Amino acid sequence: MLLIPCPWCGPRDEPEFSFGGEPVARPVPAERVSDAEWADYLYFRDNDKGPHTEIWCHSGGCGQWFVMERDTLTHAVLSARKPGGAA
Ligand SMILES: [Zn+2]
Repeated sequence: MLLIPCPWCGPRDEPEFSFGGEPVARPVPAERVSDAEWADYLYFRDNDKGPHTEIWCHSGGCGQWFVMERDTLTHAVLSARKPGGAA
């Protein structure tokens, strides 16, 4: 089980959190986005092996979303920070 450091609450067990996926920028402007670009935005992720940036929510705690760097190979949590940059 992962011990996840919520930037607001401190370290908590993984079952208190919800995985939000990889941060992906929404393609704009919407009226000019092709079907292929939209499908890529909705369905395809890099799924890299190793250090990876992810969005998580402390859904069983404070309810805040945050950015976490995690190694997908070892599951080591490398960092966690509030959205916008501050740790
Ligand atoms: Zn929290």
